[in-house]
Amino acid sequence: MMKDLTTGKPLLMAADLKLMEGVLARQPRALAKAITLTESTRADHQARAGAMLDKLLPFTGKSVRLGISGSPGAGKSTFIEALGVYLIGLGKRVAVLAVDPSSAISGGSILGDKTRMERLCQEKDAFIRPSPSHGSLGGVAEKTRETMLICEAAGYDVVLIETVGVGQSETTVAGMCDMFALIQLPNAGDDLQAIKKGIIELADIIVVNKADLDPEAAAIARGQISGALGLLRPASANWRPPVVEASAATGKGIDTFWAEVEKHSKVMTESGELQARRRRQAVDWMWAMIDAGLRARFRRHPTVRRDLDAVIAAVASGEQGPSAAAYQLLGHLDLPAPPRSPDAKAQAAEKNP
Ligand code: GDP
Repeated sequence: MMKDLTTGKPLLMAADLKLMEGVLARQPRALAKAITLTESTRADHQARAGAMLDKLLPFTGKSVRLGISGSPGAGKSTFIEALGVYLIGLGKRVAVLAVDPSSAISGGSILGDKTRMERLCQEKDAFIRPSPSHGSLGGVAEKTRETMLICEAAGYDVVLIETVGVGQSETTVAGMCDMFALIQLPNAGDDLQAIKKGIIELADIIVVNKADLDPEAAAIARGQISGALGLLRPASANWRPPVVEASAATGKGIDTFWAEVEKHSKVMTESGELQARRRRQAVDWMWAMIDAGLRARFRRHPTVRRDLDAVIAAVASGEQGPSAAAYQLLGHLDLPAPPRSPDAKAQAAEKNP
């Protein structure tokens, strides 16, 4: 790849410039191709995608970034479809992305089954992208964050990021959104679970969905959750997470939900908290990428690869302490890689540095 001689940064190829122009011109095909380039694991594709993203960055930041989570079956897909259709009715353009830890393992995806969002799929102002299916959660989330930025450059007013209530994914998604919504079911136990897992603390808004099934239970659940929220220290002095009752199936409460999102946007922008949150997220993201990069470099290092299994066995059997082992292995990163067939002297020096 060609590099800029003064900055050392990769130069964009003519084809990538065209792709970038297509994204800015809001062409769906260009958008899809740009995202595919981003999701590629090939090093040259990644370098090109990175260079393109840097150039697109000035055109990002104008969308509402909304994370939506909840246990499987809570109604996330149904809710997102109802919300998406509602927003398009308001004249907005909507992108839907997913961070799905299960897809990283099984290759499946929460948005893979497109029939779940049939109506939204048909809207020209909607863009739906399933979760990238390869990589660790970090890898999947990394691509989702980049996809979110490309969608912003392509002029989507709202980016909805769906994640399933499993593992680390909620924290990761909350770390890339302006607002994090948690969808709950109107039965006791489910809300308690979220409270126990500490997820409720991430929420900026809570939806009690399927209120149509049992309005009374929904009202009780709303009260319980509000009560639990009252015991938490609020994350912001300017925002108390509201609890709204909704029915994704009938569309009831979607307008109330969106009114709260807009209120949150306004309050957070006026207080400067939104800008601070995004700045913090960008720096956190950089650190996460550094951590991931170091980890990958560590695992690729020839001396680490040579010694790792033996050191793991030594730690497992109690022959070597974990911290000493970690220091020993990390120390390899500071040394140049050994020559292909190291002579005895070099080997001895490595064993007794
Ligand atoms: P997800 O796994 O969280 O994405 O949940 P889905 O959106 O797939 O919904 C799970 C099931 O609940 C589906 O059969 C939906 O039709 C149903 N469902 C979702 N929202 C509602 C609702 O508001 N009311 C009722 N009665 N059913 C709903």
